[in-house]
Amino acid sequence: MGLKDFFKTRQLKKAAKLQSQLSTNGNGHDLKVEPSICDDQLCVLWTKCQGCNELLYTSELKKNHSVCKHCGHHHRLTAQERIDLLTDYGSFLEIDDNILPSDPLNFKDLKPYKDRLKEAEKTSNSKEAIITGIGSINNQPVAIGAMEFQYIGGSMGSVVGEKIVSLAERAIEKRIPLILVSSSGGARMHEGILSLMQMAKTAGILKKLHEEKLLYVSLLTEPTFGGVTASFAMLGDILIAEPRARIGFAGRRVIEETIRQKIPKDFQTAEYLLENGQIDLVIPRQNLKPLVSDLIRLHSQNTKLKTGISPFSKIPLFAGV
Ligand SMILES: [Zn+2]
Repeated sequence: MGLKDFFKTRQLKKAAKLQSQLSTNGNGHDLKVEPSICDDQLCVLWTKCQGCNELLYTSELKKNHSVCKHCGHHHRLTAQERIDLLTDYGSFLEIDDNILPSDPLNFKDLKPYKDRLKEAEKTSNSKEAIITGIGSINNQPVAIGAMEFQYIGGSMGSVVGEKIVSLAERAIEKRIPLILVSSSGGARMHEGILSLMQMAKTAGILKKLHEEKLLYVSLLTEPTFGGVTASFAMLGDILIAEPRARIGFAGRRVIEETIRQKIPKDFQTAEYLLENGQIDLVIPRQNLKPLVSDLIRLHSQNTKLKTGISPFSKIPLFAGV
């Protein structure tokens, strides 16, 4: 018997005993007996670690940024949790939340795409697979976006592409760094070629950001795959991943079937990519904010030294000197 079943049985026994006592006293004939805690509440209280199967107090887990204290497994965060983790409290202001998805191809697979969109909004409590906005990290302004994996697997459709472009344009306009947190299965096939076009579109605006000598930090989290890996996620000036995050283009099974060879067990993990020079850093979640903050500060100082232009202002610092 699992722990959940044990608690449920115990509660039902207690409730039955209480009803029997009330009935005996003649007071509880119409009393509806319900367990003191329902299944959903149990799930809210406890979380089973996906790394080591330990049962963890959800509140304790949340306090530790959803990282298991026993095995260090990094549980998935929602886009909003990710923004809260990285930005200063109360500093984040969402932009472009009025850009909403449509169904230009009138696409239908097992169910209509329109229905999937409605369902995704309900389950993820998000209007699209990315949240973007302006905030600050240790009082340094940033343009930041975080992907929502619960929304159709964090897939990149037209809206995600448009919101990233718009965010990068704000970064250029305000001369502030860009931070993007990826968590995605890839391009959204329900939008066909329109979703694939977002790869070129996002890569284009990042080139412009690069020409403007602005910093772009890409955070890769579990999982980052497909068209997202093949475009903006791997184009950062600095690529940072969380421990054991899976990052790749095609899935493991597809590669094995194509090349007809077994691939290493740790293939497509953050650690494997680091070892092979494909990313720059693997950093535990607790250290992400201080690290990104330091990177922004160092880049800002370096830019001032090299060009005499503050990255946060279009006005030359030494004008007229
Ligand atoms: Zn664990």
